[in-house]
Amino acid sequence: TPLPTAAAAVTPMMEQFIEIKAANPDSLLFYRMGDFYELFFDDAEKASRALGIVLTKRGKHQGHDIPMCGVPVHAADDYLQKLIGQGFRVAVCEQIEDPAEAKKRGGKSVVRRDVVRLVTPGTITEDKLLAPSESSFLMALGRVKGGVDHSFALAWIDISTGAFRVAETTADRLLADIFRVDPREMIVAEPVFYDPELKPVFDVLGRVANPQPPSLFDSASATGRIARFFDVATPDSFGAFSRAELSAISGAIAYVEKTQKAERPPLSRPEREEQGSTLFIDPATRGNLELLRTLSGSREGSLFKAIDRTVTGGGARLLADRLMAPLTDPAAIGARLDSVSFFRSETRLCQAVRASLKSVADMPRALSRLALNRGGPRDLGALRAGFEAAGAIAAIFGETILPQELTAALGAIQALPRALSQHLTQALGDELPLLKRDGGFVRGGYHVELDEMRALRDESRKVIAGLERSLIDETGIRSLKIRHNNVLGYYIEVTANHHAVMTGSDGAKARFIHRQTMANAMRFTTTELAELETKIANAADRALSIELAAFDALTAEAVGEAEKIRAGADALAVLDVSAALALLSESEAWCRPVVDSSLAFEISGGRHPVVEQALRRSGEGPFVANDCDLSPEGSAKNGAIWLLTGPNMGGKSTFLRQNALIAILAQTGSFVPAASAHIGVVDRLFSRVGASDDLARGRSTFMVEMVETAAILNQAGERALVILDEIGRGTATFDGLSIAWAAVEYLHEKNRCRAIFATHFHEMTSLAGKLARLHNVTMRVKEWENDVVFLHEVGKGAADRSYGVQVARLAGLPEAVVDRAKEVLHQLEEGEVSGKTNRLVDDLPLFSVAVKREAPKPVKNDALGAALGDINPDEMTPREALEALYRLKVLA
Ligand code: ADP
Repeated sequence: TPLPTAAAAVTPMMEQFIEIKAANPDSLLFYRMGDFYELFFDDAEKASRALGIVLTKRGKHQGHDIPMCGVPVHAADDYLQKLIGQGFRVAVCEQIEDPAEAKKRGGKSVVRRDVVRLVTPGTITEDKLLAPSESSFLMALGRVKGGVDHSFALAWIDISTGAFRVAETTADRLLADIFRVDPREMIVAEPVFYDPELKPVFDVLGRVANPQPPSLFDSASATGRIARFFDVATPDSFGAFSRAELSAISGAIAYVEKTQKAERPPLSRPEREEQGSTLFIDPATRGNLELLRTLSGSREGSLFKAIDRTVTGGGARLLADRLMAPLTDPAAIGARLDSVSFFRSETRLCQAVRASLKSVADMPRALSRLALNRGGPRDLGALRAGFEAAGAIAAIFGETILPQELTAALGAIQALPRALSQHLTQALGDELPLLKRDGGFVRGGYHVELDEMRALRDESRKVIAGLERSLIDETGIRSLKIRHNNVLGYYIEVTANHHAVMTGSDGAKARFIHRQTMANAMRFTTTELAELETKIANAADRALSIELAAFDALTAEAVGEAEKIRAGADALAVLDVSAALALLSESEAWCRPVVDSSLAFEISGGRHPVVEQALRRSGEGPFVANDCDLSPEGSAKNGAIWLLTGPNMGGKSTFLRQNALIAILAQTGSFVPAASAHIGVVDRLFSRVGASDDLARGRSTFMVEMVETAAILNQAGERALVILDEIGRGTATFDGLSIAWAAVEYLHEKNRCRAIFATHFHEMTSLAGKLARLHNVTMRVKEWENDVVFLHEVGKGAADRSYGVQVARLAGLPEAVVDRAKEVLHQLEEGEVSGKTNRLVDDLPLFSVAVKREAPKPVKNDALGAALGDINPDEMTPREALEALYRLKVLA
């Protein structure tokens, strides 16, 4: 249904709707009518589909029904959540005057309405719509032309907590930096968004990316905008920002203003992150290592889930943020590790602090809601709870000597505003209502007049009860009641059969003023009752307005202290993370890594945290710990490369990943799953593991693999850590082998970085004779009566064979196929040795022989199955696959 133009003859309400809608074309318009938000026209159709609610109609427009649907205001959060989750943006349009005002204006005047807020994925503050342990970042991309090239910057805000950061970036690391922050919504100036060169970036981001008018990002007017927002003369004191950074900051602020309208969230000043201060992890690696989410998108099974022992939302968010951006400065990493060590050795203190932290509510989010005028008494209650816990924690530490990071945290906790804390304790009652308009949250004894009004109200209620008794006596109607509802207020009710007693014109009866006749009851009032009612209502009104004033005063005081509250809350999160990591390291027997500026990478007894926990849960036996040593050796200046061979299922991928995860954990400032670890800071982590399927983007698996490998070979420096799994398996054997071969040579000679390279190509192990820093290692297996047992143990040397045939047997391939496969393998190997590769091809269709040879054996057997079993699709060219298909067809 097309939206009508304002020119058409419409009702005044529709006229208002159309005007507001025209100003918000990209959002669904929630148009407030009484207790509902109504949607009309197209919006109604979209929303009813998205929410599964009934589409009705309201009136006609130009002869057509106007589609309409609505959601009740009290349940709006749930519907908003669904709509935002499906990629919609919602403009919330409220009545901004009392309907009585509109009536006074007379005629066809409609209540004034306006959009008070745009709800978008990156600007949510409602508790219901936010996951407690996840940050919710809105990110803005700034781009300015600097010299020959563009320079880029990213600014990101969590308006639910006030966090605000900014960093410069470059076109080639843009996507990686975005993924590091993992924003809910990313705003970009239109010309940048439609720049073909950046299309791949925004394609990956999908609907997270949101093009906005370029005026938001104007770096020239940025300083003015920033100064206005933070109410300072100039933002110079915040730091020296580049033009790209100013543009990004300006975009973020402008979008907050655009979506929050009149309200201002208490943002912290933009904090600058130095480029290179965090470990660079490219997006593919980030996904493959399943840091926060698994490849299938669930938190279950991720590294975060395996290590998170925090007890507060703020702590969980900080841990996730740290995990996404490990540090590169050994001193900063050491400071974090000191905090963990402290709690690890002070077990009692650690437990006491954690116990107190459990009662900490989400202070920054409560504060944001209060500042945005969306808060309620429970948000003030959250601050009170936080202050109380903070006090308890400060007392627990007492005079204990703390490491640097914890000293700073304790300082921030002690600096929490005492006066505000006292005011909250004095003012707030024990049980707090969700909404301030419900009243009853101010503690008795806090405000003299409020106490009086409450007494008056309660007193009057007693008087009413007395009045009811005397009316019963007077009229003799035992069932007479004085009741209350929102329409009539207080009234006297008698059942219909008694009405004669109440109605009539003689003196006594005339006192009863008839109000309403129901099916089997009649309702009356008296002047006395009406007066009492007014008194009660006035007292209640007055009481509520006193409570609201107290609420506003406390809110203003809290917002005025935003900076200190946020700092205190951040400090509590630091304590939570440090204590949680200490507890984790204790229960999982992790060790403190040595992180320095060397190029060492020496891990003994390393484990994969997620696999280890999974094996323990499923009772599948212990995880086998493995060493890894890529440190420079002897006269070598650079780290080593391990060439890892071994059968499928031997544990190669697990080993590769565990070493990457240990590096990440160490640089996050966590203990690590190992007996000991010495890591020279890694500046870039690259991996090419697993077959991340990119077919949806129209690239073949092989193509993706090559693109990712190219990125690694082009970018990895000597401080990088590179993890490569089975490069070259996506193509024909000799192609693959030659690519893998050349890649290893290049890593060794040019990149000169620490690397682990897992491969199926046993031929490559001979490279160790040629490349000094390359070492062969293999996943050990034990052969036992024709079976293979995986030891999951990494040992020196090369696998003498791949055991593919044995593994196939374990998988249940028919005995005949296994035997035949062994034979073929033998011939192939001989062929290789004698260089008679052609024989392989000549000999290939040998299955008839196999079947014949096997015939005497009383084994269940069929030629088709046998032939199928001998096919290894991963190692075939399309042509070979087609030939195999023909062979199978013959056998069928
Ligand atoms: P590959 O990459 O060599 O095919 P994986 O790393 O996928 O092998 O490991 C296969 C399975 O072996 C895993 O699912 C895991 O359960 C088990 N495994 C791997 N490494 C270990 C280990 N060090 N200790 C115990 N079990 C392991």
